[in-house]
Amino acid sequence: MISELKRCARCPRLAKMRSQVVPWEKPIESPRARVMFIGEAPGKVEDAKGKPFQGPSAKGFNALRSALGLRREEIYVTNAVKCFAPEWNANSKLGWQEIERCRSEWLLNEIAEFKPFMIVALGTTAMKALLDDKALKLNLTKKADQWPKIAEAKTNMVHILSDVEATNGNSFWLAPFWHPSPMNKWLFPQKQAELERHPLVARYRTLIDQARKN
Ligand code: SF4
Repeated sequence: MISELKRCARCPRLAKMRSQVVPWEKPIESPRARVMFIGEAPGKVEDAKGKPFQGPSAKGFNALRSALGLRREEIYVTNAVKCFAPEWNANSKLGWQEIERCRSEWLLNEIAEFKPFMIVALGTTAMKALLDDKALKLNLTKKADQWPKIAEAKTNMVHILSDVEATNGNSFWLAPFWHPSPMNKWLFPQKQAELERHPLVARYRTLIDQARKN
């Protein structure tokens, strides 16, 4: 699938502007809890290196991962959109078409194949890719206080994944959190302990710890 992904040009605008497609990274160890992180889209550094979460967002991403008690080797890391565009705008009509296209071409298949126990959705774009117009209505960027309510319920994603046969009946914990880029502004370096005490992080970590024991 990776070789096909690297040749993907289904979004003509993005295919022209990217240096390369930034693929997902699967765990290199067999995970005891199957956790998938979904970011927004590659930034400039990721576009140059061909790997997710390498640029300024790496700091926030690694801090959150560590606060959740997870090592990079045991998690699945991907983006909602796999190609970089300098003026990529999640709120533009074209941006939404690109999110939808990359979701149906790649992201849903990734979820179907990995069968995550939990998806940590980083930021509004990842939530849009998973929840479609429900995320748009929630306006997650401005109303992040609503996120715990979403995280409370074990979300059944069959309505989104129904076009992927292998996923029928699968469900996973949806664990929304801020995208690492804005997190950088208010979290680091001195506030790692605060991140670890954050109610959402504590809730997600408890679920992950429980999954490890099962
Ligand atoms: S954003 Fe996704 S669907 Fe669009 S060209 Fe890139 S890999 Fe293909």
